[in-house]
Amino acid sequence: MPEGDTIHRAARTLHAALAGQRIERFESVFPHLTRVDAEQPIAGRCVERVEARGKHLLMWIEGELVLRTHMRMHGSWHIWPRSDPRYTSLRVASDSIYYRASRGPSERWQRPRHELRILIETSPYVALAFAVPVAEFVPADSLDRVGPVAELGPDLLSDSFDAAEACARLAARPDLEIADALLDQRALAGIGNVFKSEVLFAARVSPFTRVGALPAEQLTRLVAIAVRQMQANVGDSAAGGRRTTNRLDPSARLWVYRRRGLPCRRCGAPIQRAKQGPDARSTYWCARCQS
Ligand SMILES: [Zn+2]
Repeated sequence: MPEGDTIHRAARTLHAALAGQRIERFESVFPHLTRVDAEQPIAGRCVERVEARGKHLLMWIEGELVLRTHMRMHGSWHIWPRSDPRYTSLRVASDSIYYRASRGPSERWQRPRHELRILIETSPYVALAFAVPVAEFVPADSLDRVGPVAELGPDLLSDSFDAAEACARLAARPDLEIADALLDQRALAGIGNVFKSEVLFAARVSPFTRVGALPAEQLTRLVAIAVRQMQANVGDSAAGGRRTTNRLDPSARLWVYRRRGLPCRRCGAPIQRAKQGPDARSTYWCARCQS
């Protein structure tokens, strides 16, 4: 499931492939995108840059336009070199689209054509968005004034991340359980369900503690751990899978996430799982280490 680290990596890959390139073809199944395209054609414009803010992926398009996408649970962006002979299969109504990620020829996936939402073709690459549930064109000058991007808290993966501001925004939610507060993108941006559980384990804080019951230094420490864990996972080396434990063993990458019933890597007690918060998101924790 894409969290801030995944989106930042995707943005970097898309930026490297598309920035400065002229769009030759634009297609989408979303009427609200094709309507904009019909009124002010996207083809012919340059992609200026691609960046991530929290879990939003933003593509700046010449003419002060931003394509904002959000992956939610299953969406993903991919690029595909147009020189690849299999690219032609994309142009006909085949049932499946085969593509290769930029990571290397050994990694191949297949996604059904009906999951294709957006296609952006430039001379060297085509960018494809699959199963992306949220996509809109936003005028560049309104991006930071109104809407979900404007409401984001400090981005844990931004170079200008403001830890004090993030702590203040968390502290302003005293009645929330800390696990839910960490998911609130208006408090701080980038954390999803995996890092939520991992950060709290590393800090030895119970996910059910109300924010108001946590001392300020505890919040500061939580935010520092979140930055450290997410930054460690944004590099190219992290593409093989997230790691919070500093262990090289691929079966020991995470402390608690998806480890229900397995022994805690610190104390041996069985890892617990519960649904938590208004969206009933899974929380994993060790009752002994995080009491
Ligand atoms: Zn434990």
